[in-house]
Amino acid sequence: MSSTKNAAVVNYSEQKYSVEIREIPVPEIGEEDILLEVENVGVCGSDLHQWTSDHSWPVNYPVVLGHEFGGKIAALGARVAGWKVGDRVVSETAAVIDQQNPMSKVGLYNLDPTRKGFGYGVNGAMTRFVRVPARCLHNVPANLSFEEACLTEPCCVAYNSVVGNSNIKPGDRVIVIGPGTIGILCAAMARLCGAEVGVLGLEGDRARLEIAKQAYGCEPLVGEEAAEAWAKKRDGLGADLIIDAAGHSITLKIAMKIVRPNGQITKVGWGPQPLNFSIDPIVQKNIRLQGSFSHNWPIWERVIALLASGALNVKPIIGGVWPITEWHEAFEKMHSGQVVKSVLKPV
Ligand SMILES: [Zn+2]
Repeated sequence: MSSTKNAAVVNYSEQKYSVEIREIPVPEIGEEDILLEVENVGVCGSDLHQWTSDHSWPVNYPVVLGHEFGGKIAALGARVAGWKVGDRVVSETAAVIDQQNPMSKVGLYNLDPTRKGFGYGVNGAMTRFVRVPARCLHNVPANLSFEEACLTEPCCVAYNSVVGNSNIKPGDRVIVIGPGTIGILCAAMARLCGAEVGVLGLEGDRARLEIAKQAYGCEPLVGEEAAEAWAKKRDGLGADLIIDAAGHSITLKIAMKIVRPNGQITKVGWGPQPLNFSIDPIVQKNIRLQGSFSHNWPIWERVIALLASGALNVKPIIGGVWPITEWHEAFEKMHSGQVVKSVLKPV
C-alpha cells in the first residue's frame, strides 16, 4: 500500500465542467470496510451528467467520481470476515445504507431513500484506493478480466430492468429506446431471454446501433417511423415490451405509440424534463408502466456468473481504456457517442 497521495478525478462544485485531477490521500477505513486497490473503473452516463452539471440528484462536493469498479483487496477492517488481502472483487454501489430501513430489511437496500452511492454521496473509484464496506463485495473469478468485471454494475442495471422488472418471454418483440451503455446492455439481456430485439436511435447513433447488431443480434432502428414499422411487423399491434433507456422524458410518447395493447413499458433512463403530452394511451391500451432503479446482491451474483461463463460478452462495448489522468478524452469520446463505454485505469 502506498502512503503517498494518488491522482483522483474530482468533481468539486455544481458549476458546469467542475472536474479536475487532484492528489488525495489513501482513505482511512472503518472496522467493517476494506481498502480496495482499483484495477479498472467504468465511466457512467451519470459521471458525464455530473461533469456537465445536468444531473438531478444531490452531490456531496467535492467528490471522487466513479461507481463502476473492480480491483484487489489491499487492507481489511478489524471485523471483516470471509475476505483476504489480494482477493479479486467488484463492489456494489450502495456505499451508505440504513440497515434498519424496512427496504434494507427485505433486501431492497437499493431502494432505501437514505442510500448514498459512490461517486456522488461518498468518494468513488476514479483513483487508486477506495474505501468499501465489505457487504458491497462480490468475488471475481480468475478468468474474468477487470476491464470486463468493472462493467458488472451497468449489466446489473440492465438485468434488473429486463429480467427483474419486466415480463419477457422467448419470442417476444422488444424495442429498446436509446443506444447508450444501459440501452445496449438491456438489448443484450433481452436477447439472452430469447426475445427479438430492436434498438432505436437517431441518425448520429448509427455506429452504436451497429455494435448492438454485430455483437448481440439486434435490429438497428433509426427514427420513430422505423421503430413503429418494426414493432408492428408481426401482427400490426406493436412490441410486447419497450425499454426506455434514452434519458429524455419525451421518449415516453414514442413508447406509448409503439407498445402493443396489454404490453409493458419499463423506464430505466432518467430525464428531468416535465411531460407536455397526455399519458392516456397507458389507460386506453391497458399498459403497465414500470420504473427500474439500481440492483441488489442476488442480481450481482447472477450477472457475474453470466460474464464469467461468456453468456454475456461486454468486450464489444468497451471503446478504450485510458489512464485516469486522461479522463477528459475518455469522457468526451463517450459523451459524443464515439464509443459506447470508456474505461479508466488508475495511475
Ligand atoms: Zn453507472
